[in-house]
Amino acid sequence: MSTLLPTVPDATGHYGPFGGMFVPETLMTPLQDLAVAYEEARQDPSFQAELDDLLHNYVGRPTPLYFADRWTEKLGGAKIYLKREDLLHTGAHKINNALGQILLAKRIGKTRIIAETGAGQHGVATATVCARFGMECIVYMGAVDMERQALNVARMRLMGAKVVPVTAGQATLKEAVNEAMRDWVASVDHTHYILGSALGSHPFPMMVRDFHRVIGVEARQQILEKEGRLPDLLVACVGGGSNAIGLFHPFLNDENVRMVGVEAGGEGIVPERHAARFQGGKLGVLQGTKTWLLANDDGQIELTHSVSAGLDYAAIGPEHAYLQSIGRVEYTYATDDEALAAFKALATTEGILPALESSHALAYVEKIAPSLPKNAILIVNLSGRGDKDVEQASKYLL
Ligand SMILES: *Cc1c(COP(=O)(O)O)cnc(C)c1O
Repeated sequence: MSTLLPTVPDATGHYGPFGGMFVPETLMTPLQDLAVAYEEARQDPSFQAELDDLLHNYVGRPTPLYFADRWTEKLGGAKIYLKREDLLHTGAHKINNALGQILLAKRIGKTRIIAETGAGQHGVATATVCARFGMECIVYMGAVDMERQALNVARMRLMGAKVVPVTAGQATLKEAVNEAMRDWVASVDHTHYILGSALGSHPFPMMVRDFHRVIGVEARQQILEKEGRLPDLLVACVGGGSNAIGLFHPFLNDENVRMVGVEAGGEGIVPERHAARFQGGKLGVLQGTKTWLLANDDGQIELTHSVSAGLDYAAIGPEHAYLQSIGRVEYTYATDDEALAAFKALATTEGILPALESSHALAYVEKIAPSLPKNAILIVNLSGRGDKDVEQASKYLL
């Protein structure tokens, strides 16, 4: 007997006690309008047809579900399949969402796009779709991140985006989000904010999830074709949580499919040295949503650390907080060192350089696969490719 999970979020954007709309008064009506416009678009076959066409011909979907033969043999347990989001245009899953949102922006008559970015992958995806649709593009980025991710800054600028350095606070992703929000409060009549993960105020966590569901929808069909049954285990890394929810969501009602989200354990679970919100985090509100986050006893947001900039954020998406609370998805973490070791393992056994973010998911696979029977089936989301991380990985591994 299967019990279907309730559909979340509810009409006010709540996932159980999580989520919601914690934004300045001036953004309430625009966000409610956005939710309505999104709902109309979602049900409009012509919107879906344009999105599907571009996902196929421009972005490169469907991505392969690749059986990692040599890695499987080396670990000696479960059969490991990689969902190859690393092969998408611009090199990570982020383009699925950026494309969906720019089509929505066009539909509702917006002419200017803003975005925030940490590692620069979301900034690159946004700059890409802005060039493709001829829209003005402003990307807010922490000054520290701009230095660390100079290659992605150049990619954005080459496609015509304006990258604005943010120097406040830690000068990283959190401050870039604050700056984007400030811009949006003043510009929302003609500007759409392409938020980069399953985070922020309703309707963003839901929209971003929906635009990434294609990952899980494809994986489900592909594994049924290859193996004739559903997988036993799904694994994905969790920053804000968009690539993970994209893979997990279409399987949530399949009771026998176990799911594990892997957060960034940094240098270990010590305050300010990691970004694993379910390890030592607390319930709070950050940048539009109520969820698990890393804060001190006064409620001040703590510094975070991860070797992968894309997982280095103090809050987790509200749907993950919900799925954890009901016990449907398990969450664990991998440290910087474990992620780097997994990066090396995949590079040398399969000839694939994974993103350091994805390497956190791979690190959990290295741990769990040997303990599973040989007929068990595991799918891990390879959320992005490691080209952007070559310098950093070389520093540690060569
Ligand atoms: C941004 C990024 C992530 C983390 O973001 P999620 O929203 O948690 O998916 C993971 N992998 C790659 C390659 C990224 O660029």
